[in-house]
Amino acid sequence: MKKKLNTQLISIAALAMVTTLLLMLLFCYNSFRQNAFSDLATLSRIMISMHENNSWEHVGEVANEDNIRLTILDQEGTVLYDNKADPQTMSNHIDRPEIMEALGHQVGKADRQSETLNKRTFYYASMLEDGSVLRIARETKSIFFSLFEYVYLLVILLVFLLILCGGLSIYFTKSIVDPLKKLANEEGALQKADFIKTGYIYPELKPFLEAMATKQEQMTENALMRQQFTANVSHELKTPLTAISGYAELIENGMVPDEKDQKRFATEIHKNAERLLTLINDIIRLTELDQREADVEPEKINLFVMAKECVRSLEMNAKKHHVTIQATGENAFIMADRNMMEELLSNLCDNAIRYNRENGTVTVQVLDRLDHVELVVTDTGIGIPLEHREHIFERFYRVDKGRSKSTGGTGLGLAIVKHILIKHHTSAQILSEVGKGTEIHVRFDKA
Ligand code: ADP
Repeated sequence: MKKKLNTQLISIAALAMVTTLLLMLLFCYNSFRQNAFSDLATLSRIMISMHENNSWEHVGEVANEDNIRLTILDQEGTVLYDNKADPQTMSNHIDRPEIMEALGHQVGKADRQSETLNKRTFYYASMLEDGSVLRIARETKSIFFSLFEYVYLLVILLVFLLILCGGLSIYFTKSIVDPLKKLANEEGALQKADFIKTGYIYPELKPFLEAMATKQEQMTENALMRQQFTANVSHELKTPLTAISGYAELIENGMVPDEKDQKRFATEIHKNAERLLTLINDIIRLTELDQREADVEPEKINLFVMAKECVRSLEMNAKKHHVTIQATGENAFIMADRNMMEELLSNLCDNAIRYNRENGTVTVQVLDRLDHVELVVTDTGIGIPLEHREHIFERFYRVDKGRSKSTGGTGLGLAIVKHILIKHHTSAQILSEVGKGTEIHVRFDKA
């Protein structure tokens, strides 16, 4: 990147220099020409006024001293007098542009390449009162050749400028690229954010770099969470597997001769196997939701009907916990993924049953409000202490580990709920009082 930027910057500088030089030359050439003609015009006027009291021969001699050629011609272009050559030997000049112009417009000018390559002759002709034409000419060094004399100076200047531009371009490129490089080398996301704030970076680059740093921070966090999750999963799976393996080994070795004990151990194995299955199911579901494999397929759903179905399917379970469960409210329509809504309802209701008290109640309420649909799951259970409330949606977070496990909890139910809520662009509000109960509110847009 540095090399490319440098080459580009230096090429631009070189191009700019060459164009400036060419334009300058053009400008110089033009002004040089104009000056040459205006000098000749002045000289020509002086000579005409000199001629009032002197012969052309005399004026010609004076002009000769200044290396100026003076020629007098008649209207036909025949040379009458010339201060540098014999008029007899000179051809007719009527075809010369400056003469033609002077005959038509009083004055005429022209410049021509001299016989010697590095010289140019400027001609100025003016018509006199008697109809004859005065032409004066001066030979000068060609402007390009004069410039060539200084060409070494120009080359030195160009080389110097190029070196200067090169240096500057290296400096500017460095000032863009180096902070980026340094940033890339910064280890943590925090150090990066700090560097963006304090290090010198072009302001225009900051938003882009900040976005990148945030993204990286999220990625690091995600990676960390995954790592932690994997560790937790292994641990959670190990417990029931160890139990299963242990009981099975005892039976295998004939160490449980009593039939009653055998049955008890088999029940334990069964229970732990069930627990493994629920755990694995929840883990798979969570991973699916995580990997966006499960995209929301929204359809119009009557949330009240769904709540009643959920209550019906959980009635047996509630009875086992000596809890009554009911659905109240009114028909209310939302756009949501059917499977996910069923999972959401059953997870919330399942918790409300499991963390309830003896003879408690669970109420699932569906309310069709003016601008939204509200779902409220209320229980009369143990409640959630304030300090735990922000954590219960985390994976494997349990307030009371013993109770969660003994009631068949995996610690993943609310993590699944959270994913579903995020996918439906909503969230849950928790109202809870320890020892009295919990209310979980979720708002949905109306269909
Ligand atoms: P679990 O499988 O352990 O129930 P969840 O993710 O469903 O896991 O819930 C996380 C924790 O939040 C639970 O362990 C429990 O401590 C607490 N919790 C969830 N719902 C309730 C509730 N209705 N009343 C009291 N505590 C609850």
